[in-house]
Amino acid sequence: MKGTKLTPQREAVYEVIRERADHPTASDIFEAARKRLPGISYATVYNSLRYLKEAGLVHEISFGDSASRYDGVMERHDHAICNQCGKLVDLDMPEAAKLMPAAAQKSRFRPQSVHFTLRGVCPDCCGPQ
Ligand SMILES: [Zn+2]
Ligand SMILES: [Zn+2]
Repeated sequence: MKGTKLTPQREAVYEVIRERADHPTASDIFEAARKRLPGISYATVYNSLRYLKEAGLVHEISFGDSASRYDGVMERHDHAICNQCGKLVDLDMPEAAKLMPAAAQKSRFRPQSVHFTLRGVCPDCCGPQ
């Protein structure tokens, strides 16, 4: 990481997010950060998440009223989410970005990004076929 000096708490939170590909929630991150830095509080984890988000190091993904998930992959990418277990996986749908001009025209928004989210049932929840 260039030019950014993180406190040990922020560093621990950032590492947890970077090391996991499962887009953890704040409480998942708290559990994992506590193993690295015993004594870290939930409030500290929460404040670190806010800091990392504002610093552009992590993405917050929110889905309506369910808990926000955190993503350390900053390149444009898309997601699939399981309606049963909440598993959230990365996928790349470059075609989604191509819809941006049409979406911008319909909404009359000045576009910045487009993300595709597939909702469904993951292979683990589908069970053996
Ligand atoms: Zn599932
Ligand atoms: Zn992701």
